[in-house]
Amino acid sequence: MLKGDSNDFENRIVAPDYDGISDENESSLRPKTLDEYVGQKKAKENLRIFLEAAKKRGESLDHALLYGPPGLGKTTLSQIIANEMGVMIKVTSGPAIERPGDLAALLTNLSQNDILFIDEIHRLNRSVEEVLYPAMEDFALDIMIGKGPAARSIRLDLPHFTLIGATTRAGQLSAPLRDRFGVQLRLEMYNEQELSQIIMRSSEILEISCDEEGALELAKRSRGTPRIANRLLKRSRDFADVLGDGRITKEIVDIALERMDIDKLGLDSVDRRILSVMINNYGGGPVGLETLAAATNEEAVTIEDVYEPYLMQLGFIQRTPRGRCVTDKGFRHLGIIRQENSNQTRLI
Ligand code: ADP
Repeated sequence: MLKGDSNDFENRIVAPDYDGISDENESSLRPKTLDEYVGQKKAKENLRIFLEAAKKRGESLDHALLYGPPGLGKTTLSQIIANEMGVMIKVTSGPAIERPGDLAALLTNLSQNDILFIDEIHRLNRSVEEVLYPAMEDFALDIMIGKGPAARSIRLDLPHFTLIGATTRAGQLSAPLRDRFGVQLRLEMYNEQELSQIIMRSSEILEISCDEEGALELAKRSRGTPRIANRLLKRSRDFADVLGDGRITKEIVDIALERMDIDKLGLDSVDRRILSVMINNYGGGPVGLETLAAATNEEAVTIEDVYEPYLMQLGFIQRTPRGRCVTDKGFRHLGIIRQENSNQTRLI
């Protein structure tokens, strides 16, 4: 009964990423300047200095690595950097660059100071990564010409460019690649005020009427993630149009999110299933990631990248060397009392 549908992830309204497929209107909602970019105070302040310094010296910005869970604004920030530097940006992703030749083609088409943005950079393969090292360090491309004993290597000079890498898992980047990024910025989950501000801004752009209480309620249920906030705003508009007078209020948000099975904290049925499997099948843990993935019928990487960060942020689960454990707070959220020294649990 607890087995999930394998399409759950794609169908999830609160999944921060639909497997790389952008939401409708997403680009129109992206802030264009650092001033418009809400929150991430620390990353923004540092970035402002680096941008200013690079501009003053007339140089390209140092290579930058942006990391944090999906939907927090890494792509948006890279486009802002290009905009603020007044340069072109080419967007690609780790899995799309299959061979060294693909990367060579991208690099040789860049102009001075341009930005190459590689999303999911942790998924670059080894042979491509090796071409990237001299490109990042010496702005040079080593290519082999010919085969067998007659083969020789020639070095091509590249324009000074900036590589911006984005990843949800900085820990999976190889050390030599990570070390070549002079700027490393970690994006944090957004608080309710910041998300409300993002929702109000998006509702203005999309001409949706949304009051402050409605925006705050959406913010509370957006898992600290702007992409989810924008998506919930659009879905709530549907309910407001059909069931109300088109205006998004707290009542409309309550109705809409209840219908979509999203609870007061933004958890949906998959999050609750993960918690309940851990509690009912494993006494609250510790449970290994692979075991949990098999028991919930979700992919291990999806649990790690998408569900777990928010459940941990809420303090509902903890990672221990022996596996994942549900905390007392997690038990309480599902209305289950932990029975000490036993695997038995009881519904409140
Ligand atoms: P990521 O690349 O980290 O997955 P994106 O940059 O694609 O995330 O952001 C997803 C959406 O969230 C964007 O369309 C943008 O509208 C919104 N967004 C992200 N960060 C911010 C921010 N700081 N302020 C306003 N909107 C944001």
